[in-house]
Amino acid sequence: MTDCVYAPARRFCDMVLGNLGIETTYYDPTIGAGIEELIKPNTTLIYTESPGSQTMEMQDIPAIVAIAHKHGALVLFDNTWATGLFFRPLDLGVDICVQACTKYVVGHSDVMLGAVTVQEHVWERLHEAFENLGQCVGPDDLYLGLRGLRTMSVRLARHMTSALDIAQWLEQREEVESVLHPGLPSNPGHDIWKRDFKGSSGLFSLVLKPTSKESVMAFLDALSLFGMGYSWGGYESLCVSFDPSSYRKVMSWDKERRGLRLHIGLEDVDDLKADLDRGFQALKNTV
Ligand SMILES: *Cc1c(COP(=O)(O)O)cnc(C)c1O
Repeated sequence: MTDCVYAPARRFCDMVLGNLGIETTYYDPTIGAGIEELIKPNTTLIYTESPGSQTMEMQDIPAIVAIAHKHGALVLFDNTWATGLFFRPLDLGVDICVQACTKYVVGHSDVMLGAVTVQEHVWERLHEAFENLGQCVGPDDLYLGLRGLRTMSVRLARHMTSALDIAQWLEQREEVESVLHPGLPSNPGHDIWKRDFKGSSGLFSLVLKPTSKESVMAFLDALSLFGMGYSWGGYESLCVSFDPSSYRKVMSWDKERRGLRLHIGLEDVDDLKADLDRGFQALKNTV
């Protein structure tokens, strides 16, 4: 499993699967074909997610797929960030694609829904597991998911342009050390993103120049358009701080680095910049 995976997925592997005797090895998301060295005789699945959760590393999916298949392992990809509109993992040989439809498909932060899409050779096993686990979705939830799909392409186009605009603006700010967005030419994963993806969504991160925890709190408190919430992908903008230092096993993160994760919603871009500007003023007043 990629070390920069959505954290609850890693907890599921460590705790639920761990109790069943299933081992998980974590890998550096930028490993590419080097993943071959980590393959063990009992490796059955490689769990990928790109860009990585919070830190946004891009993975070389075709290279990982080639190694996995050479060793008889399946590849799973979490496509929540890009959705099927901006990235098509099955076309690159991925066997199983999962997507939290809670995010861009539903689009209004009011339903929890998920989708699994698989290559034909995996279908029978997936369908059997689905029947045995008795998983099903309520009709009202599905209705809202279907309604979200009707506007998803226009929403995503807007998320993309607004987020890129704000990411570029943030790169110029003196308070910001770096902006972690694969759509920016400055990003180490930009070439992979350009090769494999058709677009980018509204979610990205930034790292502030060294500052106190109190000033980060003042920044967040000063925002009024950006809410503080975890479940991104809806119409409204969100901003939360993050610190992956306690759970990453391969990719170390200095506890003193102040990371912020932003989801750019559908609001007016200039209003959002003005809101962030208020945050930066509050940050400066507390340093
Ligand atoms: C939110 C999220 C999930 C889980 O989605 P829920 O529907 O909220 O359970 C899985 N993967 C990624 C990358 C996510 O952002």
